[in-house]
Amino acid sequence: MIVNCFICETDVDALYCGSHILDENDAKATRILLLFCPTCGCSILASQSVIATHPLKWGKVGRIWPRNALSSFWDVSDDVYECMEAARTSFNKGAYDTCAHICMNVISVIHRTHNAEDEKVITYSEGLALLHNQGLIGRRMYDWGQEIPCGVGFKSEDAFTKESAQSFIEFIEALCDCIYFQNKRYDIFKNRLVSTSPTKGELSL
Ligand SMILES: [Zn+2]
Repeated sequence: MIVNCFICETDVDALYCGSHILDENDAKATRILLLFCPTCGCSILASQSVIATHPLKWGKVGRIWPRNALSSFWDVSDDVYECMEAARTSFNKGAYDTCAHICMNVISVIHRTHNAEDEKVITYSEGLALLHNQGLIGRRMYDWGQEIPCGVGFKSEDAFTKESAQSFIEFIEALCDCIYFQNKRYDIFKNRLVSTSPTKGELSL
C-alpha cells in the first residue's frame, strides 16, 4: 500500500500488518491500517475512507500516525500525558465528573511544566489566563476554554454530562496540540528563517 513514510520522507510501498473497520455498515466507513515501511522498518498507522459500497472500494491511504516527526503525542510532558490517559479512562467508564475535573487539572499541570518555580495551586480559570498572558495560547483558544461548561458561570455543584465531558477532552487535546505541537513548529520555522536569512538575526518583512 502506497503511503508516505515520515522517516524516509517519501512515498513507500508499505507492508500490511492488519486492519480494523470502523462503522462497517455505514456509508462513511473507515478502515484503520497498521503498516510498516519496508525501507526503514518504522510502524505507520493509516486510514482509508470507503468510496463505494457495491462492491466495497476503499479510497486513498492516508497516514494518521506518526502525523509528523514532531507529533504532540510524543512531546507532551509525562504528567500531562498521564492526566490525559486518566481523563479518557474515566470518560470510557462513564465517570464524567472525574473526567472533567482531571481535564481542569491539566491546565495546572501544563502551567507547572512551563513555570517550574511556581508551586502555587491555581484554578482552571487562572491557569487559562496565565497560558494566554504568557503567549502559549491565542485568544481563540482562551475563549474556547472559557466557553466550555466549567468556565464563566460554572458552579461547583453543577454536574458534568457526557457531552460536557466530551467537550472538555476535545478542548484539552486541542490545547496540548497548540502548546506542544504548533508552538514548537512555529519556533522551528522562525529559527529556520533566521538561519537562512542573508542578514542573520535581522528579519525584515
Ligand atoms: Zn521508511
